[in-house]
Amino acid sequence: MEKYLSQLNEAQLEPTIQKDGPMIIIAGAGSGKTRVLTFRIAYLMSEGVDPFNILSLTFTNKAAREMKDRIATIVGASEAKNLWMGTFHSVFAKILRIEADRLGYPSNFTIYDTQDSDRLISSIIKEMNLDKDIYKYKQVRSRISSYKNSLITVRAYFQNPELIEADTMARRPRLGDIYKEYVERCFKAGAMDFDDLLLKTNELLTRFPEVLMKYQNRFKYILVDEYQDTNHSQYLIVRALSDKFQNICVVGDDAQSIYAFRGANINNILNFQKDYDDVKVFRLEQNYRSTKNIVNAANSIIEKNQTKLDKVVWTANDEGEKIIVNRSLTDGDEGRFVASTIWENKIQNHVLNSDFAILYRTNAQSRAIEDALRKRDIPYRIYGGLSFYQRKEIKDVLSYLRLIINPADEEALKRVINFPPRGIGGTTIDRLVVAANGYKRSIFEVMKNIDKTDVKINSGTKGKLLDFVTMIESYQVLNQTADVFELAEHVTRTSGLIRELKKDATPEGVTRMENIEELLNGMKDFVEGQKEVADTTGNLAEFLEDVALSTDADADKGDPDHVALMTIHLAKGLEFPYVFVVGLEEDLFPSAMSMGTRSELEEERRLFYVALTRAEKQAYLTYALSRYRWGKLVDSEPSRFIEEIDEQYLNITTPIEERRFNPMLDSDIFGDVEPNKIRFKPAKQPEFKKANTTKEPFKAQITTPKNLKPVTATDGSNTNLFDSKLAVGNLVKHMRFGTGEVLKIEGAGADVKAEIKFQHGGTKKLLLRFAKLEVI
Ligand code: ATP
Ligand code: MG
Repeated sequence: MEKYLSQLNEAQLEPTIQKDGPMIIIAGAGSGKTRVLTFRIAYLMSEGVDPFNILSLTFTNKAAREMKDRIATIVGASEAKNLWMGTFHSVFAKILRIEADRLGYPSNFTIYDTQDSDRLISSIIKEMNLDKDIYKYKQVRSRISSYKNSLITVRAYFQNPELIEADTMARRPRLGDIYKEYVERCFKAGAMDFDDLLLKTNELLTRFPEVLMKYQNRFKYILVDEYQDTNHSQYLIVRALSDKFQNICVVGDDAQSIYAFRGANINNILNFQKDYDDVKVFRLEQNYRSTKNIVNAANSIIEKNQTKLDKVVWTANDEGEKIIVNRSLTDGDEGRFVASTIWENKIQNHVLNSDFAILYRTNAQSRAIEDALRKRDIPYRIYGGLSFYQRKEIKDVLSYLRLIINPADEEALKRVINFPPRGIGGTTIDRLVVAANGYKRSIFEVMKNIDKTDVKINSGTKGKLLDFVTMIESYQVLNQTADVFELAEHVTRTSGLIRELKKDATPEGVTRMENIEELLNGMKDFVEGQKEVADTTGNLAEFLEDVALSTDADADKGDPDHVALMTIHLAKGLEFPYVFVVGLEEDLFPSAMSMGTRSELEEERRLFYVALTRAEKQAYLTYALSRYRWGKLVDSEPSRFIEEIDEQYLNITTPIEERRFNPMLDSDIFGDVEPNKIRFKPAKQPEFKKANTTKEPFKAQITTPKNLKPVTATDGSNTNLFDSKLAVGNLVKHMRFGTGEVLKIEGAGADVKAEIKFQHGGTKKLLLRFAKLEVI
């Protein structure tokens, strides 16, 4: 152990060997917080603490696995195996299975993912004959989710006039009824959604003191990484479990709190010292991850936030290269810049694909980047987005498998009862749902006893329902002896799924078949892996648990040498030698949705801080002057975050095409460009066009003038000139270009443009709805 402890600096060593009592480590990015947690666990074990008594909660399961591997190299694999490590959701799902019957749940309860929750909520809205444009299922789901995370049960909801009033004011007076029905349906289906995993754990720990005692005694030492992003429900669990021994160690960085929109409460970290007696506070200041330029640049940004704990972050690492800021004409060009930079770096510096990460604010931005990477044959992987397990064909297979474990699972049943088609129509299914609600039984039970019920279904259909029941029951028998791979292979063949997919010879159909093959391969790996690391059999229940709780950042399959593409939210805690933060434009990052209040803007700024501090050697910040959004080419302005960085750390490059030709200077918004002068060509982007038909809340803001938010000038005055009368000859001030005179005004509606001659920087044509102008 001594040997390992020497790999820590003094400030890190102190909290590592502080064995007992409550403690908090507050420190900036890259200062070794996660490293201290890892070493601390190894230290506790070397001091004789039984691994069964240590609980460590991480942000992703992958992070937990990496920590476990590291600990295994220090204390030995067989010891490390018994540690309780993982995300809140995966650890407490395990505990809930053990204690399920106390809460009236079967131990084989299903875990509904967001897609299942959405489908159930949609059907409830439909069954209740509510207007689906007012009761948007996603909004309803997020409302229910926030109630659960604040521990507001259905009963508590109906006892709280303020909540009822708030939903009524939001034109959704029936929200409470939907919530009630949703909770009952989940319960009847033997299913918990993600929020339930925390809510029910809280219920378990408060309603059953003997259970609380059991786990308090079990988890003598508790450690939590990324504590700044715990929500209220998670906070209460940690509080309850650590109450007896108070051996609680939390680490976090208030400057990296980025999940407020999901209920994370930054006060959990700020108030920690009030929650326990004699809290030891540790601070780490030395960053080991990044160059001086990156560390200092990041410091210069986060300084702009008012709400923060004072912290020092410095590094003894090299000065490093300055942060490269790149401006492109379009999002397509931005993608090409990123791809060619990676390509050149790989050749010049002999680096791996996996040394690069491309981080963006929203998933939709990945497309232009992907196109460019593909053209250069650079392997990449997208983390997050629609996960593999949520693809239709995969979800279909999984639904059969879920039914084997839990036939009451309503969402799984509805998915596959008539897929592949077996003549059980929508009306029949509706009747079954109504009957199941009436009898307070699961749909599967109603089907099984169809002859004893009064459901109006003809005898032919009854036969089909019973055939389905028999089929699932035969799978259940096989499940007692087969591993998950053998079982799934049998199920896909005998259920008719494979036959159905084979009918479709289109490329999409072929891809679907390949996906199923990949699923089966994955199962085979899982079975092998499970035998090796966990001494278990690799059975179906274990597999489904693994799938249900795999977080977006966990999807790490196939060749590990790929460029990583992900949202900044997912990149938390990770590090890469080369990091691109793309789409640094006003309204995109900071997001238009998050500029309403100072606290929202500060959260965006923290997000930017997280993004920049992922880089070890070199960071690139890129933005485009125009970008396809919601099917339209819109102009964009560079993000204020770029301007907020102390300039001495930046290397602002001018793209070649711009040196030759600057459309902002010379053209009518790209109108009269001579084709041979410029590479830029507005690409056709069919996928985005399609997205335009779905009603995004943003769209109106961009295209409908009356919904435009007032633009605020640097001095804070309201200078939205969009519908004011700007006249030729006016003198105006622009945030970046300075003072200028209006030469010409043209266009109509949302497209009004002014040609302005600036004192410095020449003549530019600006779209008034984007330009931040102030008449002087
Ligand atoms: P974040 O805030 O991003 O989660 P963190 O504070 O958890 O960062 P770590 O990920 O633990 O920081 O450490 C950052 C990097 O610095 C890691 O690569 C880690 O191995 C390395 N590191 C930390 N401490 C030391 C040390 N004393 N000696 C050498 N390397 C170190
Ligand atoms: Mg960390």
